[in-house]
Amino acid sequence: AATDVNTSSFINEGIYNLIDNDDFKIVFVDPVRLLSSSYSRFRVSASSYYSRPFHPSRKNSTAGSAKQPCVSSGSKKRKRNSISKTHELNEREKAAEKRHQQAKPLLLKAHSALLGATWLLSSLDSMIKDEDVLEPDEGAAFENDFIQLGNLWKAPLFEISLSHEGQSWFQESSGTCPVERTSIQVFNNIISNDLDNEMEVEFSSNQYILPRKSCFFMSDLRWINSLIPVHSDHGFNLIVIDPPWENASASQKAIYSTLPNRYFLSLPVNQLAHTEGSLVALWVTNREKFRIFVEKELFPAWGVTQITSCYWLKVKTDGSLISEMDLFHHRPYECLLLGYINGKDEYDASTSPLRYPKNGEVIISIPGAYSRKPPILKFLSDYIPGKKPPNCIDLFARELQGGWTSWGNEPLRFQDSRYFINR
Ligand code: SAM
Repeated sequence: AATDVNTSSFINEGIYNLIDNDDFKIVFVDPVRLLSSSYSRFRVSASSYYSRPFHPSRKNSTAGSAKQPCVSSGSKKRKRNSISKTHELNEREKAAEKRHQQAKPLLLKAHSALLGATWLLSSLDSMIKDEDVLEPDEGAAFENDFIQLGNLWKAPLFEISLSHEGQSWFQESSGTCPVERTSIQVFNNIISNDLDNEMEVEFSSNQYILPRKSCFFMSDLRWINSLIPVHSDHGFNLIVIDPPWENASASQKAIYSTLPNRYFLSLPVNQLAHTEGSLVALWVTNREKFRIFVEKELFPAWGVTQITSCYWLKVKTDGSLISEMDLFHHRPYECLLLGYINGKDEYDASTSPLRYPKNGEVIISIPGAYSRKPPILKFLSDYIPGKKPPNCIDLFARELQGGWTSWGNEPLRFQDSRYFINR
């Protein structure tokens, strides 16, 4: 029965601590529950979020049973992309393989912890569906293409407006005096919902839902400096960055536009950081080229130090990994690099209330559609310096979160009301 602290915290908040001690932190999360906590009248639709659900393949599954999930790492199946014994690895591949072998024991430990959590495993299948609605898989047909619209000459003329006049209001945050309005320029404008409730707005015949206390700036990278706070002590305590790394699969499937590495050097991460310290969390793909770039150029350029590596392990609804652990180009995990700006050089556990992340901490979830990353605030909350609740920013965002500022060329994308259902 779902009675212990972990199960109730999972049901209410979407986070389940599989292991949390001095050596390891391994959590399972349900992004739908985590994101939904920023709304009172709506919740994120699980069927839409997980619209490309990772069901076990027939061969591997035990007739839908969650009790005996397959542990992919030990399979004897032919491995499509694993390094064959005859293939001579080049230097980068060798380095990538070495990193993988170092991470593997931790990832397998995390996976075993999930497989041991019987109640959680048995609830995964129902987690990806909504009880009352069956959403048709409409793909992205209904969505506004913000990237394309933002590039039009008339982009400065596009406005969003309140769908229910008088119900709520929104404001331009850039000025000192909030201005009540019913329509507002949508691109290159800092827009916030300062209310304790979500707000419905309309743009180009679609409805969008802004979570409570959220803020967004929809622009190209060229205009990101507008987000730099005027006073350095108004900076962000948590800076999450999910760059559009150049990557064969993203460009082939055209999931989103990508940028060459040098563009990321110009991100004003250091100027966005809070003077009392910021935790920087950077998603990076498993390509060795990017890891080297981050370690040697990007983090030094941003002033990020005290670096640790965490992992996002991706599982199917029966708890098995989404791909073989050793598949070279399709690992079942991604890396989240953590570091600090303006951090304390010497960390003294006896005086500091702050916990520091350890190498190899793992967040596990069933991946959503469109390569969405899971929300990581709860996973990282112990490690964020400064005030509570922290001031958080999501760079290259495609969604908004309560209490966060989101920036990118399409941060309203997953706020379309068709991705939500009424509570
Ligand atoms: N974190 C997001 C999520 O979980 O849904 C995914 C971010 S995705 C890796 C990168 C994002 O950067 C895409 O939305 C893409 O459109 C955006 N992007 C690409 N080039 C950009 C540019 N020049 N300026 C602003 N955003 C850009």
